[in-house]
Amino acid sequence: MHKFQIEISSCIDCQKCWDVCPVNMVTEDNRFTPQGKIDVLGKVIMGEELTQDEFDNIYLSTRCGACDDVCPVNIPITDIIQYERQLLAQQGREPAKTTAISNNIIEHNSPGAMDPSKRFDWVTDDLDIAESSEVAYMAGCWVSYSQQDIARSTIRLFNHAGIRPMILKEEKCCGLFLLDNGHLEDLAEHAKKFVDYIESLGVKKVVASCPGCYLVLGKEYPKLYRELNFEVEHSLNMFRDMIAEGTLKPKKLDMSVSVRDACPLRNSKDVPRSILESMGVQVKELFDGKQVCCGGPGGLKPNFPEIADDIAMLTVQSYKDKADMLASYCPFCVHHMGSACKSKDEEMKIKDVSVLLAESVL
Ligand code: SF4
Ligand code: SF4
Repeated sequence: MHKFQIEISSCIDCQKCWDVCPVNMVTEDNRFTPQGKIDVLGKVIMGEELTQDEFDNIYLSTRCGACDDVCPVNIPITDIIQYERQLLAQQGREPAKTTAISNNIIEHNSPGAMDPSKRFDWVTDDLDIAESSEVAYMAGCWVSYSQQDIARSTIRLFNHAGIRPMILKEEKCCGLFLLDNGHLEDLAEHAKKFVDYIESLGVKKVVASCPGCYLVLGKEYPKLYRELNFEVEHSLNMFRDMIAEGTLKPKKLDMSVSVRDACPLRNSKDVPRSILESMGVQVKELFDGKQVCCGGPGGLKPNFPEIADDIAMLTVQSYKDKADMLASYCPFCVHHMGSACKSKDEEMKIKDVSVLLAESVL
């Protein structure tokens, strides 16, 4: 009996996972269902040849977790996809782009092999950043290189609330892409280096703007390496608490937004909404409140750009009938949907919740 065989054999063919999968939604192609992705595990384990459709299907997933959430018999679909990818990588069969991005993270500390000397270009003279502090701010790759206003707004709000965080001068990519693609040994090694570095600074709390960093540092590093001697927090949780305590006092912003919810934080959707409501912003729900991924993560964007862009358009088109703009709390959602809009010649108005909060408070 192979790993996950019992779980896979418990499938009752209800097809609930089909309906919530964003890949299935845009392709409308039943060759690419979540159920189909897990059905081929036996073949992958045995190293058997896969058809092109079977192979593609394993990589046609953002690992958003929507399928896990609806499966009535709790099959860990995204864990199985990760395991299939792990085996394919070990067998030398993963897509070349997946290998290249993984190597960028290991060798250059960012998915796009960005220039490390530019990681802190977002730091401006008005920001009060300590040399050393118990609170460290981790901007993450997407904020550092392409959504720098999120980092500046976050530090300005912290400063306004009397907090002087330090930055991690040897900040690294969190490694979410390695996790999604089953490069677990590499990620464990990466985690060890990063955790040991953070702990050497005496940091007690790392605050992340990116839901991916928050998830990987806080939940995955302890599994892959060991319990951390510091806490990991998402910036929005801190902002929610600061508003409740009265340290941040939002002023009214006269607008309506639809929230582009981040998949790793899909079980705490009340946090961004409570911050938006504290600013008097009206929230108009997308997709009747159901979670639909932006389409970018897990390697979908590099390997299947057209499908990733079509998924992004589900969000872009839905908000336009409902609200003035999108509010996001994931820099990668913003990055991916922005590039999808460019390729589709579409307009999109989007701001991060931290940026909106800074505009309201400061
Ligand atoms: S994780 Fe998301 S994209 Fe992947 S199979 Fe499940 S629903 Fe589809
Ligand atoms: S939701 Fe679960 S039980 Fe239903 S078809 Fe998908 S994998 Fe099978």
